Amino acid sequence: MSVFADETLLFEPAEPRPDALPTVFAFPNTYSVGITSLGYQVVWAMLAARPELAVARLFTDASEPLPRSPGLVGFSMSWELDYINVMALLEELDIPLHAVDRTDQDPIVFGGGPVLTANPEPFAAYFDVLLLGDGEISIAALVDAVLASRDRPRADRLEALAQVPGLYVPQLYAVEYTDPTGPIAAIRPLSDRIPAVVTKQTYRGNTLSASTVVTPRAAWENIFMVETVRSCPELCRFCLASYLTLPFRTADLDDSLIPAIDRGLQSTNRLGLLGASVTQHPEFDRLLDRLSQPAYENVRLSVASVRTNTVTEKFARVLASRDCKSITVAVESGSETVRQIINKKLDQADIERAAVNAKAGGLSALKLYGMAGIPGETIADIEATATMMLQLKKAAPGLKLTLGCSTFVPKSHTPFQWFGINSEAEKRLKLLQKRLRSNGIDFRPESYNWSIIQTLISRGDRRLTPLLELVRAYGAGDTDNPDRVSLGSYRRAFKELRDRVPPLDYYVFQNWDLDQVLPWEHLHGPLPIATLKKHRAEAVTLMPSGAIA
Ligand code: SF4
Repeated sequence: MSVFADETLLFEPAEPRPDALPTVFAFPNTYSVGITSLGYQVVWAMLAARPELAVARLFTDASEPLPRSPGLVGFSMSWELDYINVMALLEELDIPLHAVDRTDQDPIVFGGGPVLTANPEPFAAYFDVLLLGDGEISIAALVDAVLASRDRPRADRLEALAQVPGLYVPQLYAVEYTDPTGPIAAIRPLSDRIPAVVTKQTYRGNTLSASTVVTPRAAWENIFMVETVRSCPELCRFCLASYLTLPFRTADLDDSLIPAIDRGLQSTNRLGLLGASVTQHPEFDRLLDRLSQPAYENVRLSVASVRTNTVTEKFARVLASRDCKSITVAVESGSETVRQIINKKLDQADIERAAVNAKAGGLSALKLYGMAGIPGETIADIEATATMMLQLKKAAPGLKLTLGCSTFVPKSHTPFQWFGINSEAEKRLKLLQKRLRSNGIDFRPESYNWSIIQTLISRGDRRLTPLLELVRAYGAGDTDNPDRVSLGSYRRAFKELRDRVPPLDYYVFQNWDLDQVLPWEHLHGPLPIATLKKHRAEAVTLMPSGAIA
């Protein structure tokens, strides 16, 4: 039986008109992964609600009946390595891989989602148009522009799309390099009819996203997801989820959030509150009161990671009474100095209080996220993280503690975008492992090699396109499992392309010059680059001398 037969739709798809544009909307991974993406669900519903489009969904392992000649094909990309699946699906649809090779007979291929919004450049070759910013604005604008230009030659259509705020047409911009293996010299539009910069579009309404479909086949079985807040006002200096999506916005509790929850709970009893920082909703306490009422007794509640100093006993109690056993907080480091460097406004007492409250409220586990290799970090700071975990064990005996730890990865549009990753990070992860596992604390390091690949893509430019294609040909490892991704294929591809692309070191480990042209220089996020530099400079003043050249 088709996976689609198990779905409960929470919106009304339009009946396509006879002349509707055949459209494919793809998630370049399995159905189970794709349908669990709130972003994918919401954009699909926006497209399917338009009678001018006849939309079929496509995943790597399932699809609705596909049109023979689609006029519009979209991809929502949530995970970097899914680029391999984007290529495979384009081939499956018989569409030339590179946008510049497409003709008037080929569809317009668009892309969006977190990976492409952050830095689309390594993947720019595959897309005719990329959506920068909130879907509430850019999807309707894209569809209108595609329909309005339907019978025109491709070159005219691309030029028309480039005029729409927030729509980026990569092939209409030329990138020049100081030399083939050096930094970018300039990024220019090909003609004066094309805007020199594309600015991310911001939705300012107070109704945020909610699931448009519930299914037992989702990775979180039958979950109804509701976006409680968008962005985060805390501005931790490495954090893409905050910097790229500013300003901080909240769903209106009475007019939108509670009605959405009540609607969703008519189809399931599993509720997920989503957002970079859900407990920072100004009326979160009132939401908790609501969810504590007997009417919600059978609800299974999950929340995304929350700010450590917002874990109250009441919050933990409500979660525990709603079938949630554990909570996740991101502390990043046990060192006060490092937390100041990254602007994490948190002290040891806050962290201990979160553990004590979690236990007192009836939760059985607390998961903490940390990072190794944060710019300015020393070995003493890693030791401080180990000490912090041991103190937590004492402060909340019996609470199961887990520390998940990744390597710092620089992200575009953040003040830390100029820093490379610390080549000592792997050793530091091992040190933490030694300290914690010998004391009975569950330690789960993220693969260091995976962090290297993430950084490569995060700070990559268009010169990586042939490299990524070589990696695909060599075999990228198990792309569903970060621990099994093959860094060897990337190293081999760098060797093969030596003198044609900068070395891996340039993208991953080097601290970039503050004045060098960034690959995303022409794609403007919410804050001006001068503000990011100021935030970076504030961090550098807090680093031990000599930590950063
Ligand atoms: S509190 Fe969390 S979501 Fe907010 S800026 Fe810091 S790391 Fe990002």
